[in-house]
Amino acid sequence: MSDETMNEERSSDTARHFLRQWIAEDVEAGRTGGQVVTRFPPEPNGYIHIGHAKAVHIDFGMAKLFGGTCHLRMDDTNPSKESDEYAENIQKDIHWLGYDWGENGFFSGSDMFDTMYQIAENLILSGHAYVCGLSQEEWKTYRGIPTEPGKPSPTRDNTPEQNLAVFRDMKAGKYKEGEMCLRAKIDMASPNIHFRDPVIYRIMHTSHYHSGTKWCIYPMYDFAHPIEDALEGVTHSMCTLEFEVHRPLYDWVIDRLDEMGMLVVRNGVKIRPQQREFARLNLTYTVMSKRKLLQLVQEKRVNGWDDPRMPTVCGLRRRGYTPDAIRDFCDRIGVSKYNSETDVALLEYCLRDDLNKKATRRMAVLDPVKVVIDNFPENETRYAEALNNPECPEAGTRKIPFGRELWIERDDFREEPEKKFFRLAPGREVRMRGACLFTCTHVVKDGDGKITEIHGTYDERSEGGNAWDGRKIKGTLHWVSVAHAVPLEVRLYDRLFTVPAPDGDPVHPFTDFLNPDSLRVVTAYGEAALADAQPDTPYQFERIGYFCLDPDSTPEKPVFNRTVTLKDTWAKVAGKA
Ligand code: ATP
Ligand code: MG
Repeated sequence: MSDETMNEERSSDTARHFLRQWIAEDVEAGRTGGQVVTRFPPEPNGYIHIGHAKAVHIDFGMAKLFGGTCHLRMDDTNPSKESDEYAENIQKDIHWLGYDWGENGFFSGSDMFDTMYQIAENLILSGHAYVCGLSQEEWKTYRGIPTEPGKPSPTRDNTPEQNLAVFRDMKAGKYKEGEMCLRAKIDMASPNIHFRDPVIYRIMHTSHYHSGTKWCIYPMYDFAHPIEDALEGVTHSMCTLEFEVHRPLYDWVIDRLDEMGMLVVRNGVKIRPQQREFARLNLTYTVMSKRKLLQLVQEKRVNGWDDPRMPTVCGLRRRGYTPDAIRDFCDRIGVSKYNSETDVALLEYCLRDDLNKKATRRMAVLDPVKVVIDNFPENETRYAEALNNPECPEAGTRKIPFGRELWIERDDFREEPEKKFFRLAPGREVRMRGACLFTCTHVVKDGDGKITEIHGTYDERSEGGNAWDGRKIKGTLHWVSVAHAVPLEVRLYDRLFTVPAPDGDPVHPFTDFLNPDSLRVVTAYGEAALADAQPDTPYQFERIGYFCLDPDSTPEKPVFNRTVTLKDTWAKVAGKA
């Protein structure tokens, strides 16, 4: 199956949910003017994470399903924490996930500042907005509580001329931050607090990464977002549940734009953008707020936004995640209206499933102890042959050189084996995968009693590791030839947090739950072919896990990240407990 058809199948699977029905009805009723337009609106104040990937998947996926387009829009109307670095990396990460907004699909909210300002003046002139000089504290008491009507601001009944003059002075920088703001005149008695004359413009004497020092007043999200949607001709605006209570305000702004004749007309149809909400993704053993992720970076708890332990898209990429695995995950979690926690094990399951198909198999020993085959000729090299990927015959085979000395995992040997231990022990015969059958005769130890060498003999008729007489061999070990080994730095990553809900504790900050063992670095040995390991290629180190080459690699020393173990060890631990 081609990637194209696979993706299509995938998105049609996911799409049997309320958002799809909602869009389908509008298409049917002719409300889209023949084109579904969605948007993904990240604020460039951080890197996108796996939660954003879910939103990207829905926004771009729905557009694709209906043959429409999805805009990428920088929702950059709050200057304080935004930057070009973030804006650029968001684009890179979305492309890597496999989505594209097309040639005319990139927008920045800040490009519309002039228009938004004009709309604000129009609202003032039509009596729909007024300036307000209440302090933050006063504003809160005036606004009141949902069960009782609020109190009108003393300036609520200013004339449009008065309001316009003050608003222009705000723009000209004649007021300090917090001294004055612009509010929509809606309903101070509404049970929906967001509807009680919300602030739509505020003063911020801060320069903006895009518009520089041109502005000292900036539109609020609730005002800017519907304007951006409307002017871009967006038909369906999907966001997370916390915006549900803002929806009446969204519609109010759209109504005003309609009155001003500002809605886009497509094929004779006036496009009225609509908003619907879905549950955000929460993952166990993870924090997902950009603020907390930034804190981890700033406090150097991790090595940057792309640290392989981070749930950011760039972190997952560096860890060895594939776009296919992430999209598969997004399909499986589906879309709903109820907030819940998704087990991170599901993400790892999707990853293993994908890597099992794609990973190039190699042998590497992470905790080496030396095996000496006493009856093997000195200085002779032989070759084991192995498939590069048993799941994919086209990947071919390779020849793995070996000689008299091999590295094996220390854990694959027991001097006194327990009952169910079928690997190497004194007097025991095991298969050295693809090479030979080996029987241990004795061990050599150092002064502290630590085993330094395991000695034994091989069956000269066991070429390729096959028993010539058909006798049963219970254990098969992976190995690396000492004479041909490539030294590797291997970074063994584990979950960043030790508890399923690190930011759910009422007393302890989430940083109290950081896993002190989330990164362990070991020096390992890899088979000769690993000297030519390629970036962006997934590897399976046989019997150990999936790995990928890290950008920190040098020609002298390849560095590998453990993407994920072969089996879910956490499930085992949890099962025992
Ligand atoms: P902030 O708290 O900084 O606003 P944010 O996570 O809301 O962070 P945005 O850049 O505003 O970040 O989000 C862009 C889009 O991604 C929004 O439409 C938002 O609803 C969606 N989104 C954010 N987090 C998640 C999540 N965990 N699951 C699904 N969608 C999300
Ligand atoms: Mg947000």
